[in-house]
Amino acid sequence: MHHFAYRDGSLHAEGVDLRRIAAEVGTPVYVYSTATIERHYKLFAAAMKKAAGKAHVFYAMKANGNLGVLKTLGALGAGIDTVSEGEVRKALAAGIPPEKIVFSGVGKSEQELRFAVETGIYQVNIESESELDLLSKVASSLGKRQEAVFRVNPDIGAGGHAKITTGSSENKFGVSFEEVGRLYSRAANMPGVRIMGLAVHIGSQIREIDAFEAAYSKMVALVGDLKGEGHRVDRLDLGGGLGIPYDIPKTFDYGPGLIEAYAEMVGRVTKGLDVELGFEPGRLIVGNAGLLLTRVLHLNPRPTKQFLVVDAAMNDLVRPAMYEAYHEIWPVAEPAIGSPEIAYDVVGPICESGDTFTTGRALPQLKQNDLVAFMTAGAYGASMSSTYNQRLLVAEVMVKGDDYAVTRPRQSYEELIGTDRLPGWFA
Ligand SMILES: *Cc1c(COP(=O)(O)O)cnc(C)c1O
Repeated sequence: MHHFAYRDGSLHAEGVDLRRIAAEVGTPVYVYSTATIERHYKLFAAAMKKAAGKAHVFYAMKANGNLGVLKTLGALGAGIDTVSEGEVRKALAAGIPPEKIVFSGVGKSEQELRFAVETGIYQVNIESESELDLLSKVASSLGKRQEAVFRVNPDIGAGGHAKITTGSSENKFGVSFEEVGRLYSRAANMPGVRIMGLAVHIGSQIREIDAFEAAYSKMVALVGDLKGEGHRVDRLDLGGGLGIPYDIPKTFDYGPGLIEAYAEMVGRVTKGLDVELGFEPGRLIVGNAGLLLTRVLHLNPRPTKQFLVVDAAMNDLVRPAMYEAYHEIWPVAEPAIGSPEIAYDVVGPICESGDTFTTGRALPQLKQNDLVAFMTAGAYGASMSSTYNQRLLVAEVMVKGDDYAVTRPRQSYEELIGTDRLPGWFA
Protein backbone atom coordinates (compact mmCIF):
# COMPACT_ATOMS: atom_id res chain seq x y z
CA MET A 1 0.00 0.00 0.00
CA HIS A 2 1.04 3.62 -0.01
CA HIS A 3 0.21 6.78 1.88
CA PHE A 4 -1.16 8.99 -0.92
CA ALA A 5 -4.89 9.57 -0.67
CA TYR A 6 -7.62 12.16 -1.22
CA ARG A 7 -8.64 14.14 1.83
CA ASP A 8 -11.22 16.91 1.70
CA GLY A 9 -11.13 16.78 -2.09
CA SER A 10 -7.37 17.10 -2.52
CA LEU A 11 -4.63 14.51 -2.93
CA HIS A 12 -2.37 14.29 0.12
CA ALA A 13 0.98 12.69 0.85
CA GLU A 14 0.43 11.38 4.38
CA GLY A 15 -0.87 14.51 6.16
CA VAL A 16 0.38 17.07 3.66
CA ASP A 17 -1.77 18.57 0.90
CA LEU A 18 0.06 18.39 -2.43
CA ARG A 19 -1.34 21.83 -3.30
CA ARG A 20 0.74 23.21 -0.45
CA ILE A 21 3.94 21.57 -1.73
CA ALA A 22 3.27 22.83 -5.25
CA ALA A 23 2.72 26.37 -3.96
CA GLU A 24 5.78 26.40 -1.70
CA VAL A 25 8.32 24.37 -3.69
CA GLY A 26 6.99 24.71 -7.23
CA THR A 27 6.59 22.02 -9.86
CA PRO A 28 7.73 19.60 -11.13
CA VAL A 29 8.67 18.03 -7.81
CA TYR A 30 9.07 14.49 -6.52
CA VAL A 31 7.23 13.76 -3.28
CA TYR A 32 8.16 10.75 -1.14
CA SER A 33 6.24 9.27 1.75
CA THR A 34 8.43 8.23 4.69
CA ALA A 35 5.70 5.94 6.03
CA THR A 36 5.50 4.03 2.75
CA ILE A 37 9.27 3.60 2.48
CA GLU A 38 9.44 2.36 6.06
CA ARG A 39 6.49 0.04 5.61
CA HIS A 40 7.90 -1.64 2.53
CA TYR A 41 11.34 -2.07 4.01
CA LYS A 42 9.99 -3.55 7.23
CA LEU A 43 7.64 -5.92 5.38
CA PHE A 44 10.43 -7.15 3.16
CA ALA A 45 13.08 -7.47 5.87
CA ALA A 46 10.73 -9.29 8.23
CA ALA A 47 9.59 -11.71 5.53
CA MET A 48 13.17 -12.54 4.52
CA LYS A 49 14.24 -13.00 8.12
CA LYS A 50 11.37 -15.37 8.69
CA ALA A 51 12.12 -17.32 5.51
CA ALA A 52 15.86 -17.49 5.83
CA GLY A 53 17.03 -16.87 9.36
CA LYS A 54 20.26 -15.13 8.41
CA ALA A 55 19.19 -12.49 5.91
CA HIS A 56 20.88 -9.21 5.06
CA VAL A 57 18.96 -6.57 3.15
CA PHE A 58 20.99 -4.16 1.02
CA TYR A 59 18.74 -1.48 -0.45
CA ALA A 60 19.72 -0.89 -4.09
CA MET A 61 20.40 2.80 -4.01
CA LYS A 62 20.29 3.36 -7.75
CA ALA A 63 16.48 3.21 -7.51
CA ASN A 64 16.49 6.37 -5.38
CA GLY A 65 19.68 7.79 -3.91
CA ASN A 66 18.32 10.78 -2.06
CA LEU A 67 20.13 11.21 1.27
CA GLY A 68 16.85 11.48 3.14
CA VAL A 69 15.72 8.14 1.73
CA LEU A 70 19.07 6.52 2.61
CA LYS A 71 18.95 7.90 6.16
CA THR A 72 15.40 6.66 6.61
CA LEU A 73 16.40 3.15 5.56
CA GLY A 74 19.70 3.23 7.44
CA ALA A 75 17.81 3.99 10.65
CA LEU A 76 15.89 0.75 10.11
CA GLY A 77 19.13 -1.20 9.82
CA ALA A 78 19.29 -1.47 6.04
CA GLY A 79 22.55 -2.06 4.24
CA ILE A 80 23.10 -0.50 0.82
CA ASP A 81 23.83 -2.05 -2.58
CA THR A 82 25.93 0.36 -4.65
CA VAL A 83 27.07 0.37 -8.28
CA SER A 84 29.61 3.21 -8.42
CA GLU A 85 32.10 5.08 -6.24
CA GLY A 86 29.62 7.94 -6.10
CA GLU A 87 27.04 5.63 -4.59
CA VAL A 88 29.51 4.24 -2.05
CA ARG A 89 30.38 7.81 -1.06
CA LYS A 90 26.74 8.78 -0.81
CA ALA A 91 25.95 5.75 1.36
CA LEU A 92 28.79 6.78 3.70
CA ALA A 93 27.51 10.37 3.70
CA ALA A 94 24.13 9.03 4.83
CA GLY A 95 25.84 7.37 7.79
CA ILE A 96 25.66 3.79 6.49
CA PRO A 97 28.54 1.84 8.07
CA PRO A 98 31.05 0.42 5.53
CA GLU A 99 30.39 -3.10 6.79
CA LYS A 100 26.85 -2.78 5.44
CA ILE A 101 27.84 -1.73 1.92
CA VAL A 102 27.93 -4.03 -1.11
CA PHE A 103 29.54 -2.90 -4.37
CA SER A 104 28.04 -4.40 -7.55
CA GLY A 105 28.34 -3.46 -11.20
CA VAL A 106 29.82 -4.73 -14.40
CA GLY A 107 32.48 -2.06 -14.95
CA LYS A 108 34.24 -1.06 -11.76
CA SER A 109 37.42 0.94 -12.34
CA GLU A 110 40.71 0.55 -10.48
CA GLN A 111 40.08 3.84 -8.68
CA GLU A 112 36.60 2.71 -7.63
CA LEU A 113 37.87 -0.63 -6.32
CA ARG A 114 40.66 1.10 -4.41
CA PHE A 115 38.16 3.42 -2.78
CA ALA A 116 35.91 0.50 -1.83
CA VAL A 117 38.78 -1.54 -0.36
CA GLU A 118 40.20 1.43 1.57
CA THR A 119 36.73 2.15 2.93
CA GLY A 120 36.46 -1.41 4.20
CA ILE A 121 33.15 -2.32 2.62
CA TYR A 122 31.40 -5.59 3.34
CA GLN A 123 31.52 -7.18 -0.08
CA VAL A 124 32.49 -6.64 -3.70
CA ASN A 125 30.34 -8.53 -6.21
CA ILE A 126 32.84 -9.58 -8.88
CA GLU A 127 31.44 -9.71 -12.41
CA SER A 128 34.38 -10.98 -14.49
CA GLU A 129 37.77 -12.68 -14.30
CA SER A 130 39.42 -9.43 -15.27
CA GLU A 131 37.80 -7.72 -12.33
CA LEU A 132 38.93 -10.55 -10.01
CA ASP A 133 42.53 -9.93 -11.05
CA LEU A 134 42.19 -6.18 -10.67
CA LEU A 135 40.55 -6.39 -7.25
CA SER A 136 43.24 -8.72 -5.90
CA LYS A 137 45.98 -6.48 -7.27
CA VAL A 138 44.44 -3.33 -5.80
CA ALA A 139 43.67 -4.86 -2.40
CA SER A 140 47.03 -6.56 -1.96
CA SER A 141 48.83 -3.32 -2.84
CA LEU A 142 46.95 -1.82 0.10
CA GLY A 143 47.93 -4.78 2.28
CA LYS A 144 44.32 -5.90 2.45
CA ARG A 145 42.22 -8.91 1.53
CA GLN A 146 38.75 -7.89 0.30
CA GLU A 147 35.76 -10.13 0.89
CA ALA A 148 33.94 -10.74 -2.37
CA VAL A 149 31.44 -12.96 -4.13
CA PHE A 150 31.11 -13.96 -7.77
CA ARG A 151 28.06 -12.63 -9.55
CA VAL A 152 26.90 -15.52 -11.67
CA ASN A 153 24.88 -15.21 -14.85
CA PRO A 154 22.26 -17.97 -14.50
CA ASP A 155 21.07 -17.66 -18.10
CA ILE A 156 17.52 -16.93 -16.99
CA GLY A 157 16.10 -13.78 -18.53
CA ALA A 158 13.23 -12.01 -16.80
CA GLY A 159 11.91 -8.55 -16.23
CA GLY A 160 9.40 -6.02 -17.34
CA HIS A 161 11.35 -4.84 -20.40
CA ALA A 162 14.37 -5.90 -22.49
CA LYS A 163 16.42 -2.99 -21.15
CA ILE A 164 16.06 -4.18 -17.54
CA THR A 165 16.67 -7.89 -18.10
CA THR A 166 20.09 -8.86 -16.75
CA GLY A 167 20.11 -12.60 -16.16
CA SER A 168 20.26 -13.94 -19.70
CA SER A 169 23.60 -15.18 -21.03
CA GLU A 170 23.13 -12.60 -23.80
CA ASN A 171 23.35 -9.84 -21.16
CA LYS A 172 26.59 -8.24 -20.06
CA PHE A 173 26.29 -9.22 -16.40
CA GLY A 174 28.22 -11.72 -14.33
CA VAL A 175 30.48 -14.70 -14.92
CA SER A 176 29.13 -17.79 -16.62
CA PHE A 177 28.07 -20.84 -14.68
CA GLU A 178 30.76 -23.06 -16.14
CA GLU A 179 33.54 -20.69 -15.10
CA VAL A 180 32.76 -20.32 -11.40
CA GLY A 181 34.62 -23.42 -10.16
CA ARG A 182 37.80 -22.50 -12.01
CA LEU A 183 37.66 -18.89 -10.81
CA TYR A 184 37.12 -20.07 -7.24
CA SER A 185 40.27 -22.21 -7.48
CA ARG A 186 42.29 -19.36 -8.96
CA ALA A 187 41.06 -16.91 -6.34
CA ALA A 188 42.13 -19.24 -3.53
CA ASN A 189 45.75 -18.47 -4.45
CA MET A 190 45.30 -14.72 -4.78
CA PRO A 191 46.56 -12.47 -2.00
CA GLY A 192 43.98 -9.70 -2.21
CA VAL A 193 40.59 -11.45 -2.24
CA ARG A 194 38.64 -13.81 -0.05
CA ILE A 195 35.74 -15.35 -1.93
CA MET A 196 32.77 -15.70 0.38
CA GLY A 197 30.15 -17.03 -2.01
CA LEU A 198 27.92 -16.14 -4.92
CA ALA A 199 25.51 -13.47 -6.11
CA VAL A 200 22.79 -13.37 -8.74
CA HIS A 201 20.46 -10.65 -10.03
CA ILE A 202 18.27 -11.49 -13.00
CA GLY A 203 16.51 -8.21 -13.78
CA SER A 204 14.00 -5.67 -12.60
CA GLN A 205 10.21 -5.35 -12.36
CA ILE A 206 9.80 -9.14 -12.20
CA ARG A 207 6.40 -10.22 -10.95
CA GLU A 208 6.71 -13.95 -11.70
CA ILE A 209 8.04 -15.92 -8.77
CA ASP A 210 8.81 -18.78 -11.18
CA ALA A 211 11.61 -16.82 -12.86
CA PHE A 212 13.31 -16.20 -9.54
CA GLU A 213 12.78 -19.80 -8.54
CA ALA A 214 14.43 -21.09 -11.71
CA ALA A 215 17.47 -18.88 -11.17
CA TYR A 216 17.74 -19.54 -7.44
CA SER A 217 17.42 -23.30 -7.91
CA LYS A 218 20.38 -23.20 -10.29
CA MET A 219 22.34 -21.16 -7.74
CA VAL A 220 21.55 -23.60 -4.94
CA ALA A 221 22.76 -26.50 -7.09
CA LEU A 222 25.92 -24.55 -7.86
CA VAL A 223 26.54 -23.91 -4.15
CA GLY A 224 26.29 -27.67 -3.58
CA ASP A 225 28.71 -28.41 -6.41
CA LEU A 226 31.24 -25.87 -5.18
CA LYS A 227 31.05 -27.09 -1.61
CA GLY A 228 31.51 -30.62 -2.93
CA GLU A 229 34.73 -29.46 -4.59
CA GLY A 230 35.93 -28.14 -1.24
CA HIS A 231 35.22 -24.46 -1.83
CA ARG A 232 33.92 -22.21 0.90
CA VAL A 233 30.44 -20.80 0.22
CA ASP A 234 29.17 -18.79 3.17
CA ARG A 235 27.07 -16.22 1.36
CA LEU A 236 24.44 -16.26 -1.33
CA ASP A 237 23.29 -12.83 -2.50
CA LEU A 238 19.95 -13.23 -4.30
CA GLY A 239 19.83 -9.73 -5.82
CA GLY A 240 16.78 -7.54 -6.26
CA GLY A 241 14.22 -7.19 -9.00
CA LEU A 242 10.91 -7.99 -7.32
CA GLY A 243 8.28 -6.01 -9.23
CA ILE A 244 5.55 -3.67 -8.06
CA PRO A 245 2.08 -2.83 -9.40
CA TYR A 246 2.07 0.31 -11.54
CA ASP A 247 -1.60 0.07 -12.52
CA ILE A 248 -2.91 0.79 -9.06
CA PRO A 249 -6.56 1.58 -8.53
CA LYS A 250 -7.23 4.55 -6.27
CA THR A 251 -8.33 2.24 -3.47
CA PHE A 252 -5.27 0.11 -3.96
CA ASP A 253 -3.97 -1.92 -1.05
CA TYR A 254 -0.64 -3.38 -2.01
CA GLY A 255 -0.58 -5.93 0.77
CA PRO A 256 2.31 -8.27 1.33
CA GLY A 257 1.10 -10.93 -1.13
CA LEU A 258 3.99 -10.94 -3.58
CA ILE A 259 6.60 -10.44 -0.87
CA GLU A 260 5.20 -13.39 1.05
CA ALA A 261 5.13 -15.61 -2.03
CA TYR A 262 8.72 -14.64 -2.78
CA ALA A 263 9.80 -15.30 0.82
CA GLU A 264 8.08 -18.68 0.86
CA MET A 265 9.87 -19.66 -2.35
CA VAL A 266 13.26 -18.46 -1.04
CA GLY A 267 12.80 -20.40 2.19
CA ARG A 268 11.83 -23.55 0.30
CA VAL A 269 14.56 -23.39 -2.33
CA THR A 270 17.39 -22.56 0.10
CA LYS A 271 16.27 -24.90 2.89
CA GLY A 272 19.17 -26.63 4.63
CA LEU A 273 21.76 -24.78 2.55
CA ASP A 274 23.57 -23.23 5.54
CA VAL A 275 24.55 -19.94 3.91
CA GLU A 276 23.82 -16.33 4.82
CA LEU A 277 21.37 -14.87 2.33
CA GLY A 278 21.57 -11.34 0.96
CA PHE A 279 18.86 -9.35 -0.83
CA GLU A 280 19.11 -6.17 -2.91
CA PRO A 281 15.61 -4.75 -3.38
CA GLY A 282 15.37 -1.27 -4.89
CA ARG A 283 12.12 -0.60 -6.71
CA LEU A 284 10.08 -2.63 -4.23
CA ILE A 285 11.09 -0.36 -1.35
CA VAL A 286 10.67 3.07 -2.93
CA GLY A 287 8.61 2.62 -6.13
CA ASN A 288 5.17 3.42 -4.90
CA ALA A 289 6.49 5.57 -2.06
CA GLY A 290 6.94 8.42 -4.52
CA LEU A 291 5.03 10.53 -7.02
CA LEU A 292 5.99 13.25 -9.45
CA LEU A 293 3.83 16.32 -8.99
CA THR A 294 3.40 18.41 -12.12
CA ARG A 295 1.24 21.26 -13.40
CA VAL A 296 -0.74 21.52 -16.63
CA LEU A 297 0.85 24.21 -18.79
CA HIS A 298 -1.32 24.05 -21.88
CA LEU A 299 -4.13 22.21 -23.55
CA ASN A 300 -3.55 21.77 -27.22
CA PRO A 301 -6.59 20.35 -29.00
CA ARG A 302 -6.05 18.84 -32.44
CA PRO A 303 -8.62 17.42 -34.82
CA THR A 304 -7.86 13.86 -33.72
CA LYS A 305 -6.15 14.33 -30.39
CA GLN A 306 -6.12 16.32 -27.19
CA PHE A 307 -2.60 17.13 -26.00
CA LEU A 308 -2.07 17.92 -22.36
CA VAL A 309 1.29 19.67 -21.94
CA VAL A 310 2.64 19.43 -18.38
CA ASP A 311 5.69 21.06 -16.80
CA ALA A 312 7.43 17.73 -16.11
CA ALA A 313 9.35 16.15 -18.97
CA MET A 314 11.40 13.10 -19.89
CA ASN A 315 14.47 14.63 -18.25
CA ASP A 316 12.58 14.50 -14.93
CA LEU A 317 10.94 11.09 -15.42
CA VAL A 318 12.44 9.08 -18.26
CA ARG A 319 10.73 5.73 -17.65
CA PRO A 320 7.88 6.13 -20.16
CA ALA A 321 10.26 7.30 -22.91
CA MET A 322 12.93 4.72 -22.12
CA TYR A 323 11.00 1.62 -21.07
CA GLU A 324 7.49 2.35 -22.36
CA ALA A 325 6.60 2.40 -18.68
CA TYR A 326 3.08 3.04 -17.43
CA HIS A 327 2.33 5.50 -14.64
CA GLU A 328 -1.09 6.20 -13.21
CA ILE A 329 -1.99 9.88 -13.51
CA TRP A 330 -4.11 11.27 -10.70
CA PRO A 331 -5.52 14.80 -10.68
CA VAL A 332 -4.72 16.50 -7.37
CA ALA A 333 -8.25 17.89 -7.18
CA GLU A 334 -10.40 14.83 -6.51
CA PRO A 335 -12.66 14.22 -9.50
CA ALA A 336 -16.37 14.00 -8.78
CA ILE A 337 -17.71 10.47 -9.08
CA GLY A 338 -19.00 9.89 -12.59
CA SER A 339 -17.39 13.02 -14.02
CA PRO A 340 -16.79 12.71 -17.77
CA GLU A 341 -13.39 11.62 -19.01
CA ILE A 342 -11.36 12.75 -21.98
CA ALA A 343 -8.61 10.85 -23.79
CA TYR A 344 -5.41 12.84 -23.44
CA ASP A 345 -1.91 12.51 -24.82
CA VAL A 346 0.13 13.70 -21.86
CA VAL A 347 3.41 15.24 -23.00
CA GLY A 348 6.29 17.29 -21.62
CA PRO A 349 7.89 20.45 -23.05
CA ILE A 350 11.04 18.78 -24.44
CA CYS A 351 11.77 19.14 -28.12
CA GLU A 352 11.33 15.55 -29.21
CA SER A 353 8.30 13.36 -29.71
CA GLY A 354 9.71 10.79 -27.29
CA ASP A 355 8.82 13.20 -24.51
CA THR A 356 5.42 11.58 -24.19
CA PHE A 357 4.16 10.15 -20.91
CA THR A 358 1.10 8.44 -22.31
CA THR A 359 -1.23 8.50 -25.30
CA GLY A 360 -5.02 8.32 -25.37
CA ARG A 361 -5.31 8.12 -21.58
CA ALA A 362 -8.81 8.63 -20.22
CA LEU A 363 -8.63 11.27 -17.50
CA PRO A 364 -11.14 13.61 -15.92
CA GLN A 365 -11.32 16.88 -17.79
CA LEU A 366 -8.34 19.08 -16.91
CA LYS A 367 -7.59 22.73 -17.42
CA GLN A 368 -4.58 25.02 -17.45
CA ASN A 369 -2.75 25.22 -14.07
CA ASP A 370 -4.37 22.07 -12.69
CA LEU A 371 -2.03 19.83 -10.74
CA VAL A 372 -1.61 16.15 -11.58
CA ALA A 373 0.55 13.42 -10.10
CA PHE A 374 2.44 10.64 -11.86
CA MET A 375 2.07 7.85 -9.35
CA THR A 376 4.57 5.12 -8.48
CA ALA A 377 7.48 7.34 -9.44
CA GLY A 378 9.68 6.82 -6.38
CA ALA A 379 12.04 4.38 -8.12
CA TYR A 380 14.15 5.22 -11.17
CA GLY A 381 12.53 8.66 -11.30
CA ALA A 382 14.67 11.37 -9.73
CA SER A 383 17.68 9.04 -9.76
CA MET A 384 17.56 9.02 -13.59
CA SER A 385 16.77 12.71 -13.99
CA SER A 386 18.99 15.04 -16.00
CA THR A 387 19.21 18.61 -17.24
CA TYR A 388 18.44 17.78 -20.89
CA ASN A 389 17.17 20.86 -22.77
CA GLN A 390 18.93 22.89 -20.03
CA ARG A 391 16.04 22.24 -17.69
CA LEU A 392 16.75 22.57 -13.97
CA LEU A 393 17.39 19.35 -12.10
CA VAL A 394 14.07 18.44 -10.52
CA ALA A 395 13.36 19.11 -6.82
CA GLU A 396 12.62 16.39 -4.25
CA VAL A 397 10.53 16.51 -1.09
CA MET A 398 10.08 14.03 1.76
CA VAL A 399 6.89 13.93 3.78
CA LYS A 400 6.64 12.60 7.31
CA GLY A 401 3.22 12.84 8.91
CA ASP A 402 2.05 16.45 8.72
CA ASP A 403 5.55 17.69 8.04
CA TYR A 404 7.60 17.89 4.88
CA ALA A 405 11.15 18.87 3.94
CA VAL A 406 12.85 19.74 0.68
CA THR A 407 15.50 17.03 0.37
CA ARG A 408 16.86 18.33 -2.93
CA PRO A 409 16.17 21.96 -3.74
CA ARG A 410 15.44 22.72 -7.34
CA GLN A 411 18.68 23.55 -9.10
CA SER A 412 19.23 27.27 -9.82
CA TYR A 413 20.06 28.69 -13.22
CA GLU A 414 23.39 29.88 -11.78
CA GLU A 415 24.22 26.28 -10.82
CA LEU A 416 23.03 24.95 -14.16
CA ILE A 417 25.19 27.33 -16.18
CA GLY A 418 28.01 27.46 -13.64
CA THR A 419 28.95 23.80 -14.03
CA ASP A 420 30.37 24.49 -17.50
CA ARG A 421 33.86 25.97 -17.97
CA LEU A 422 34.85 28.05 -20.98
CA PRO A 423 38.04 26.93 -22.73
CA GLY A 424 40.95 29.30 -22.06
CA TRP A 425 41.15 30.32 -25.71
CA PHE A 426 38.00 32.40 -25.32
CA ALA A 427 39.70 34.56 -22.70
C1 LIG B 1 19.39 -2.58 -10.13
C2 LIG B 1 19.92 -3.64 -9.24
C3 LIG B 1 19.19 -4.06 -8.12
C4 LIG B 1 17.82 -3.52 -7.78
O1 LIG B 1 16.86 -3.85 -8.71
P1 LIG B 1 15.31 -3.52 -8.39
O2 LIG B 1 14.59 -4.00 -9.57
O3 LIG B 1 15.21 -2.05 -8.21
O4 LIG B 1 14.97 -4.26 -7.15
C5 LIG B 1 19.76 -5.01 -7.30
N1 LIG B 1 20.98 -5.54 -7.57
C6 LIG B 1 21.71 -5.17 -8.63
C7 LIG B 1 23.02 -5.79 -8.86
C8 LIG B 1 21.20 -4.21 -9.50
O5 LIG B 1 21.92 -3.84 -10.56
